[in-house]
Amino acid sequence: MKPLVFDIARASGVDGPGIRTVVFLKGCPLRCQWCQNPESQVPAAENLFYAENCIKCGCCDQGCYSLARQTAGQYYPPTELARLILRDKIVYQVSSGGVTFSGGEPLMFIDYLYETAQILKQENIHIAVETCGYFDFELFERTLLPLIDLFLFDIKLMDPIRHEIVTGKSNHLIIQNFKKLCASGVKIIPRVPLIPGYTASRENLSQIAAFFVEQGVADCAFLPYNPSGISKWERLGKQPPANLSSVPMALEDEQKWIALFYRERETKKSNLLHI
Ligand code: SF4
Ligand code: SF4
Repeated sequence: MKPLVFDIARASGVDGPGIRTVVFLKGCPLRCQWCQNPESQVPAAENLFYAENCIKCGCCDQGCYSLARQTAGQYYPPTELARLILRDKIVYQVSSGGVTFSGGEPLMFIDYLYETAQILKQENIHIAVETCGYFDFELFERTLLPLIDLFLFDIKLMDPIRHEIVTGKSNHLIIQNFKKLCASGVKIIPRVPLIPGYTASRENLSQIAAFFVEQGVADCAFLPYNPSGISKWERLGKQPPANLSSVPMALEDEQKWIALFYRERETKKSNLLHI
């Protein structure tokens, strides 16, 4: 199946250093119940319905000109995708930015990214990848790895059974890949989603802190829960998973969990020094 892009966000300031273009690829091996972009999960193109844009003109069979009906998923050949990314080359240069491949899981499409990244590297573009960590490391190492400057690597849950229950897959491959990437010496910023009732618990954050200390990870980022996925499930005509909160994580809760994580990390570090 050809890799499809479901969004290209220009001038992003949050998915890596500087100002970036973020390319969202469609397809993910995981099915996180809290997913903010459910339209990213299935690799095939899908239709979304934006009821607020519908003017009830009754012309659906001729195409929708008011953007009420939109299709997520468009194929761009690597040369065309690289051309679109390079439109903002000057912005990347002045802001020390670049491109970030996101998803879904962009490393489902290693060959496609490799072809695109080869073109971008000829122009000295900084390339970041956001990954859930579930990918074929051997293929990736043989091809794409030397072209990537930064990984934003999500670690969600350390308990493999719980991970499988709430994301559809065990975390075994993810943990192995994280260790291999750390050993490769490439720059990684691990990210921890803070999802009430799922990942935001003392036990899980303590286990992640211990894992990061063990792997020599200097720092990480946190992704507080955002309920924007709920409306996207509805736009796809599907039922959102039950138990999802309809409000974003409050700032004080986010700060509480982050403080707990750092306390746990300091404890793990000092335990390590006393072994
Ligand atoms: S064409 Fe678009 S705006 Fe018109 S009725 Fe259909 S969905 Fe609504
Ligand atoms: S890994 Fe990311 S894109 Fe994939 S299902 Fe989970 S939250 Fe959604």
